[in-house]
Amino acid sequence: MSPKTETSAIAFRKHDHRRCQRQLLSEARQLCEARKLRLTSRRRQVLEILLASHQPLGAYDILAELNRVDSAERIAPAIVYRALEFLMAEGLIHRIESRNAFISCIHPGHHSAAQFLICRDCEQVAEFENIDPGLLSAADNLGFAVDHSVVEITGVCAECQKHGD
Ligand SMILES: [Zn+2]
Ligand SMILES: [Zn+2]
Ligand SMILES: [Zn+2]
Repeated sequence: MSPKTETSAIAFRKHDHRRCQRQLLSEARQLCEARKLRLTSRRRQVLEILLASHQPLGAYDILAELNRVDSAERIAPAIVYRALEFLMAEGLIHRIESRNAFISCIHPGHHSAAQFLICRDCEQVAEFENIDPGLLSAADNLGFAVDHSVVEITGVCAECQKHGD
């Protein structure tokens, strides 16, 4: 496994996830500072909820979690959607289309496209930075102008296969 594959596949291995959380939150802060963007407390809260694991969460799960941690006022769904849009636009999170859910990016702001391996047992998602160049050059050869690409591969991770029957 190349070092890059190692990092990408972290979701499928036992690891100290608090390190991911700290690292990714500080990268998000730096990125917003460098781009002169405001990581408002609401945006940060939504990001933190997604940073809790490598499993994707739907907008309504995020809303429920926000209302649980911050019960002072009822939070409207539109607020969550706006925060998600901001985080997606800045490359801090991704949308997992096949799940209609969101996941924090493991290399924030470093790429424009991503592909995902999704384990249907543990629901962990591993992210790979770039789309298969073979596929993109095939598109190029066809004169096909790519404007959006989603690669989501579902299966069972090695850990889950070990524990399965
Ligand atoms: Zn982690
Ligand atoms: Zn990413
Ligand atoms: Zn799994």
